[in-house]
Amino acid sequence: NHAVEKATTAVDSLCPFCGVGCQLTYHVKDDKIQYVTGKDGPANRGRLCVKGRFGFDYINHPHRLTKPLVRKDGIPKHGEDFVDPANPWTHFREATWEEAMERAARGLVKVRDEVGPQAMAGFGSAKGSNEEAYLFQKLVRMGFGTNNVDHCTRLCHASSVAALMEGVGSAAVTAPFAAAMDAEVIIVIGANPAVNHPVAATFIKNAVRQKNAKLIVMDPRGQALTKFATHHLRFKPGSDVAMLNALLNVIIEEGLTNPAYIQRFVDGFPDLEQAVKDATPEAMSPLCGIAPDVLRDVARMYATSKASIIFWGMGVSQHVHGTDNARCLIALGLITGQVGKPGAGLHPLRGQNNVQGASDAGLIPMVLPDYQSVEDAAKRQAFEAIWGPGVKNEHIAAKRGLTVVEIMNAIMKGEIHAMYIMGENPAMSDPDASHAREALAKLDHLVVQDIFLTETAFHADVVLPASAFAEKDGSFTNTDRRVQIGRAALKPPGEARQDWELVQDIAQRMGLPWNYAHPREVYAEMASVMPSLAGITWPRLEDEEAVTYPGGREIIFTDGFPTATGRARIVTTKVTPPAELPDTEYPMVLSTGRLLEHWHTGAMTRRATQLDALEPEATAQLHPRDAAKLGVTAGQQIRVSTRRGSIQLKARIDRDVAENMVFIPFAFYEAAANLLTNPQLDPFGKIPEFKFCAAKVEAVEAA
Ligand code: SF4
Repeated sequence: NHAVEKATTAVDSLCPFCGVGCQLTYHVKDDKIQYVTGKDGPANRGRLCVKGRFGFDYINHPHRLTKPLVRKDGIPKHGEDFVDPANPWTHFREATWEEAMERAARGLVKVRDEVGPQAMAGFGSAKGSNEEAYLFQKLVRMGFGTNNVDHCTRLCHASSVAALMEGVGSAAVTAPFAAAMDAEVIIVIGANPAVNHPVAATFIKNAVRQKNAKLIVMDPRGQALTKFATHHLRFKPGSDVAMLNALLNVIIEEGLTNPAYIQRFVDGFPDLEQAVKDATPEAMSPLCGIAPDVLRDVARMYATSKASIIFWGMGVSQHVHGTDNARCLIALGLITGQVGKPGAGLHPLRGQNNVQGASDAGLIPMVLPDYQSVEDAAKRQAFEAIWGPGVKNEHIAAKRGLTVVEIMNAIMKGEIHAMYIMGENPAMSDPDASHAREALAKLDHLVVQDIFLTETAFHADVVLPASAFAEKDGSFTNTDRRVQIGRAALKPPGEARQDWELVQDIAQRMGLPWNYAHPREVYAEMASVMPSLAGITWPRLEDEEAVTYPGGREIIFTDGFPTATGRARIVTTKVTPPAELPDTEYPMVLSTGRLLEHWHTGAMTRRATQLDALEPEATAQLHPRDAAKLGVTAGQQIRVSTRRGSIQLKARIDRDVAENMVFIPFAFYEAAANLLTNPQLDPFGKIPEFKFCAAKVEAVEAA
C-alpha cells in the first residue's frame, strides 16, 4: 500500500533461488525486507514465481547464525545421539571471531603440512556469487595445494557439461530460454520447468499460446506443461537413450538430416548412422514404451521445423547414462542443424541461481576458470603468473581433483582428512546420505560456512556465520549465460560476515597474501583471467544490470564451434540400463526431485514462512493404482526402503507419477530422500543416479 511504499527503500537485485535469474526489487524498512516486486529484467520481464515473491523471510529466521561456533570438547560427530536435530546448538559453543578463525585455519594448515595437500578438499556453492566461487577455488588450489574442489553442479548437470564439452566445446546453453518464443517446435525432456524454473516456463507457455509453437514433453511423470503440449511421451524411466536413438534413426532413415550443415560443421555422422541403424522405432518401442508412430511423428516434427529447441533437466542428467542421454540430444541438434539460429538450440536448464557462474569460475576439480584444463601446463603457468606462487612456492597441482562423491569415498578410505565447506549441504544432497554423513564425521577437521546450522554443519568442528543473498554484493550468471548484479539490501545479522571476506581471512591465515577490499576487485581479477568475460566490467554490470557472454551474444555457434577444428563432434551411445533395477525385494522405482515451494535441501525455503506453510512436510508421491495395490490412502504413513536405508513419511496420491514409481522431494531432513538414493556414478560426468533406484513401499498403519 502507498503508506508502506513511501516508507521503504528500494534495492534492485536478483532472486536467490533458481537459474532463471529473475531481477527483482527488495523493498526494505528498518533493515527488513517488507515485500518484493519483479523487475523488467531480460530473464523475467517483471514476473516472479512464488519463491522469488514470497520466499525471503528466511533471512530473519531465528535460526540464523549470528556468532561463530566451535564444537564442544568430547562431543561425538556421528552415531545415534551425535546431534539433536531439534536443538543442534547444544553441541557447540559460541566463540570470538579470532578464536574461530584461528582454529579453522590451524586445523587446515595442520592437515596440509602433516598429511599433505591431497588430504584436503573444499566444496563451494552454486548459491554464492561468481566472486565467492572464484576466491574459493583459488584458495583450494593455492592455499590447500590441491584440485579437490567441487560443488553441486556435480549433482545436477555434470553429465550435460561432459557431453557438451566433448561435443560442441562449450558447456553453456546455445540459446536463452526466451528463444522458445521464436521456435516452431519445443522439446522439454527430463525437466519440469513449471515447478523448477517457473518463470522460464511462462516463455514456453506463451510460445504455444501466442506463437503457435508445438510443444513436446518427454517425461515419465506428468506435469503442468503437458496441457500445452501436442505430445507427452511418458517413456519408461531410464529408457531415454532407446527413445532418443529411435528419433535419430527416423531422421536419418527418412532423409530428414541437414547434409549441408553436417558437411560444414559436424564430425562423426557416419559413426552415428552405423550406431543407430538398428534402433528403429519398432525395435526401441518395447524398451521405451512409446509407440513407433509417435516416435516417427516427433522425429519428423523436430527435424523439419524451421527452428526447434531442446530444454532438458535433471531427468536427463541424473543417471548413470546421463552423459549418453545428453549426447543423444546434442546429436539431434547437430544432424538437423537445429543449433545456432533464432528459435533453435540446446538448453540444459541450470538449477541453482549461479551454477553456471560457479562452474565458469573454476569451482570444478578438472578445470581452472573458464574450463581451462588443470592438466595443461601452459594454462597452469598462465594462472600462476597472475595468482603468484602457492603458500610454499609450489605450483598449481597438475592432477585432476576428486569430485563430490569421490571426495566422500576418499574420506572413508582415510585419504582425505580436512574439508572446508562453504554454503553446501552434502549431508542432505549427496546420494546414500548415511554414507556421506559418516564420511563428514570421520574428518579430522571440518570447517562449515553457512547462514544456518545445516545438517552438514552438525558434523563441523568450526561453524562460520555468513551472509544471506540479500546481504551481499556480487555477480551471478544465470542459465542463459547472463551475468547480472546482485546488490546488498540488508546488513548481515549479529556478527555474521561476508562469505568472500571469510574465504580471504582463511587464505591469509594459511599464508596467502590476499588483500581484496570489495567483490568488484575480485571480479576485475576474474575478468582478466576469463576470456568469456571480456568486455564485461563491473561498472558495466552496475550500469546495465545484465550482460550476456560472450560479447553480448544470446545465440552462439552461428558459424562453427569453439573446438580445435571449429567443428562439432557426435559421440554415439548404446542403450544401457540403470545401475539398480527393480526386483522381487525392491519392486518399485524411486525418483527424487524438487517441489515448487522448496528449493534443494530446504535450508532456506523451509525457513520461509509462506513457502513452508504451503508445503510443511515430506510426502512420497504414488500413482493411484499403486496406492490401491498397496492398500495406502492419501495422508497415510508409509515406509519407503532401498538397499541403503528406510524412511517414513506421508503418502500423496498423484496421477502424474508413473505407475510403479515413488517420487520423493529431497528437501526434508526428517525424511531425507537421499538416505535412499544410489551413489553409482555416470562414468563421464561422475553424477549419481538420483532419478532411478529400486525401492519398496509399505503401509505403516492401517488406512
Ligand atoms: Fe526466482 Fe527462479 Fe522463481 Fe525466478 S523463476 S522468481 S529466479 S525461483
